[in-house]
Amino acid sequence: MYDCIILGTGVAGISAALTLKALKRNFLLVGSRELSAKVASAEKIKNYPGLPSLSGREFKAALSKQLEEENIEVTEGRATGIYDADGGFFVACGQDMYEGKTIILSTGVETVKPIEGEKELVGRGVSYCATCDGFLYKGKTIAVVCAAKEEEHEVELLAKYASKVYLFALYKNCSVKGKNIQKIVGIPKRIKGEGKVSAVEYQGGEIAVDGVFMLKDAACDSLYPALKVEGGSVEVGRDMATNVAGIFAAGDCTGRPYQYAKAAGEGNIAAHSVNAYLNKK
Ligand SMILES: Cc1cc2nc3c(=O)[nH]c(=O)nc-3n(C[C@H](O)[C@H](O)[C@H](O)COP(=O)(O)OP(=O)(O)OC[C@H]3O[C@@H](n4cnc5c(N)ncnc54)[C@H](O)[C@@H]3O)c2cc1C
Repeated sequence: MYDCIILGTGVAGISAALTLKALKRNFLLVGSRELSAKVASAEKIKNYPGLPSLSGREFKAALSKQLEEENIEVTEGRATGIYDADGGFFVACGQDMYEGKTIILSTGVETVKPIEGEKELVGRGVSYCATCDGFLYKGKTIAVVCAAKEEEHEVELLAKYASKVYLFALYKNCSVKGKNIQKIVGIPKRIKGEGKVSAVEYQGGEIAVDGVFMLKDAACDSLYPALKVEGGSVEVGRDMATNVAGIFAAGDCTGRPYQYAKAAGEGNIAAHSVNAYLNKK
């Protein structure tokens, strides 16, 4: 069992990982090896101490190098649920299950609100993770709601499994191509199905599908429903502890201001709080 499982490879998660490493804790960092898309997206970062006028790309390269130098590996995956375990928690990442005594949520802020039917049909045809669940849709028809250009490689991966992909791209200049990919012009409104996904309704029509992939950042309370969330942000104290003993949160997921410096600071505090929590136990 890990001392801690950190979810998210943005600045908050990386900061928490670096601190847990310094504290000699055994932890798992789960997310994308490409790190958070938001790390590279800033044109020029002017408000991060000591790194004046760094571009987002340079920042991302520096963070990747630091993880490599510290021998911190990223476990590629997306958490789909957190469950109570004896003395800690299970974290499900598609087909994989990890066990940790504590959790640090650093999954960023949810930018796309859930659509009708989404939450009800999670695990019954609604998935958030192409690498975890894509293989379940071999030869089937799926819809993919893609919130950001950075997720396009996941759409392409899904198109290798599914026979037909209906793509809703919620951003400009979508460049996904594929013989079996059909772009739908319209905003998805509702996922339909009785106990299992059967169709997606959108402005302008309805399509029958076997599954729907929502490629967007997940809300923390959908990972662990008992988590106290106010206005979309996880409630934390100054020690980054949530209302659930053993679960801590850091970065954009705890609320404004959405800034790298806050994310780094909170990741650091969360890691120290995890250490103190484990010492006490
Ligand atoms: C265009 C742009 C420019 C910006 N410029 C600046 C700037 O100049 N200065 C500044 O201070 N801030 C800036 N920001 C804000 C900054 O990017 C954020 O505040 C910062 O990235 C927050 O870091 P984070 O680690 O909390 O979250 P994020 O960077 O959002 O990282 C969270 C990560 O967790 C992943 N994740 C989500 N759900 C799961 C899950 N279930 N399992 C595993 N992983 C998951 C996400 O995909 C993401 O990779 C900018 C933001 C944007 C979009």
